[in-house]
Amino acid sequence: PHGRVFNFSAGPAVLPVDVLERAQADLINWQGSGMSIMEMSHRGKEFESVIKKAEADLRTLLNIPSNYKVLFLQGGASTQFSMIPLNLAKAGETVDYVITGAWSKKAAEEAKKYCNVNIAAKGDNKSLPPASAWKLSPDSRYVHYCDNETIGGVEYKATPEVGDRVLVSDMSSNFISKPIDVSKYGIIYAGAQKNVGPSGVTIVIIREDLIGHARPEAPTMLDYKIHVENDSMYNTPPCWSIYICGLVFEKLLKLGGLEAMQKLNEEKAAVLYDAIAASNGFYNSPVDPAVRSLMNVPFTIPSQPDLEKVFIKEAEKAGMLQLKGHRSVGGMRASIYNAMPIEGVQQLASFMKEFAAKHA
Ligand code: PMP
Repeated sequence: PHGRVFNFSAGPAVLPVDVLERAQADLINWQGSGMSIMEMSHRGKEFESVIKKAEADLRTLLNIPSNYKVLFLQGGASTQFSMIPLNLAKAGETVDYVITGAWSKKAAEEAKKYCNVNIAAKGDNKSLPPASAWKLSPDSRYVHYCDNETIGGVEYKATPEVGDRVLVSDMSSNFISKPIDVSKYGIIYAGAQKNVGPSGVTIVIIREDLIGHARPEAPTMLDYKIHVENDSMYNTPPCWSIYICGLVFEKLLKLGGLEAMQKLNEEKAAVLYDAIAASNGFYNSPVDPAVRSLMNVPFTIPSQPDLEKVFIKEAEKAGMLQLKGHRSVGGMRASIYNAMPIEGVQQLASFMKEFAAKHA
């Protein structure tokens, strides 16, 4: 229906069709208000009900403890790269960063502008340094890592154990893909445009004791306290994006919450990793099986790299789009977030099999 394709984009990425249909139905006249969510004051009772429900449903989904605040911010996950050091550390203080790919590297580079960054461990895009191997500095203000590197397709399978240190996690590309124990984290943040909703909103979950310590010179918009005190409405929030995220949260709750999503995501990822394994080396996953991402599946055609372009083109003709790997690494990448139906990965796996049979 609707002439939809299977969309394997890394982000902005596929959204559930029923969420889009609901948004379409609400577009011109939201629940009898005579207005679209895009057109109404963020201070009105209508939008207030939308953002309150979105937060409440997210709290239920992730079982967020009451001593954590939920914020809907702008500036993308990239703005968190500077907001975190500006709020959690003073100039000259030390912070730990684990670099496992392009995104955590960017986060560390940004933090270097504001404090003393200790690189506690480095990954190689194929494997991940376990938390037991992280060389944390004795007096660091926090430990930052990326739970799922979107480009490399490497994902931590359990919360890294860092004792009573403040753990900060970039979960942009695997947020709400599986249950997590929020109480183990100081801050969790995620740009919405991969696994949640449209671009334009970044979700931050922050433990209360970390709020209120921004440096005096930090821009007002980069002070968590300001956003907490104003319920994410210090300035005009990204109303439409928050509304769509809310529809997605509601849908996930109906589907059985994050346990159900994890099960489905494991099943979906297995279809692709199995297809790679069954190809007798025609396809290769560069990633250690222990840390293969359930969300982003990079793969190559190692013996005939010229065929990768052909693969991407023919897949496109068969209705499977955006399979090109990130420009920094090449090859293919299938991003299979919550909203990718299992039929999409099944179709891709059959296509891979036929393509290999034709070219091996
Ligand atoms: N972190 C990760 C893991 C990402 O995948 C991305 C976006 N690709 C970012 C951060 C940056 O997000 P944004 O574009 O929202 O700033």
